[in-house]
Amino acid sequence: MTLVAGVDIGSTTAKCILLEDGAIVGKSLAPVGVELVKDAERALEKALGEAGRERREVQAVTGTGYGRFKVTFGQYTLTEIGCHAKGAHYLFPGTRVVLDIGGQDTKAIKVSDRGEVVDFAMNDKCAAGTGRFLDVCAGALGFDVSEIGSLSLGARHPVKVTNTCTVFAESEVSAYVARGKDPKDIVAGLYASVVSRSLSLMQRVGVEPELTFTGGVSRNEGVVRTLRQRLNLSVNVSPLSQYVGAIGAALHGLERAGSPPP
Ligand code: ADP
Repeated sequence: MTLVAGVDIGSTTAKCILLEDGAIVGKSLAPVGVELVKDAERALEKALGEAGRERREVQAVTGTGYGRFKVTFGQYTLTEIGCHAKGAHYLFPGTRVVLDIGGQDTKAIKVSDRGEVVDFAMNDKCAAGTGRFLDVCAGALGFDVSEIGSLSLGARHPVKVTNTCTVFAESEVSAYVARGKDPKDIVAGLYASVVSRSLSLMQRVGVEPELTFTGGVSRNEGVVRTLRQRLNLSVNVSPLSQYVGAIGAALHGLERAGSPPP
């Protein structure tokens, strides 16, 4: 029996995945605060609680995400890029391109048939087109981001969101609201903007099937639908998509622990 954990400390959320002999046996997801070391510990404890396992049984812990060095109790670290490639390959072995949209960054990753990184492109430091962009703009519409996924269904005249900067886009959304624009059309305009930026990134590595969409924004069904329409390709999305970085981290630990990949 080999029990390993992957802990992904992102800009917005902490995720943990526990793998036993290559199968997922526990997971956790919680917002991050200011004490990232504690968030990382809580993420592991919560996943252990779900799996009914003890900390001493865990043979390897790998940290990933922007806060990976806060996983101070772990043995290994690996970048999110490497982890998303491995994790996407685990869920969808035919994956050749990964689009990861998280809280503050977007990455397009070209992946080999073994789940290794071949090439990648990332957004610049600005949060345009990321989860934060959608969170702030949903707020300007009076919604939480988790409520706007299906809102664009039935949009008839999507607005053009011209500002990519989150702060200016928020003002632009507020101005559309003040002018009485239908929230469906505003949300459809936001999704078009996020998807356009993602497509430019993906074009830098090459868009090819199979494409797997990961990160918290892949939980937004409106973004998924818009991406599928624009690409005219099927796009893999799993209920575990927000955990893909943590899955990849756990797999890295499994390899280091000397077990063959599942
Ligand atoms: P990070 O790894 O940078 O912390 P995540 O991959 O966890 O980021 O993604 C966080 C983003 O996911 C949020 O900013 C939000 O836009 C989006 N998100 C999270 N949960 C949902 C949900 N239920 N519906 C729609 N979007 C969501």
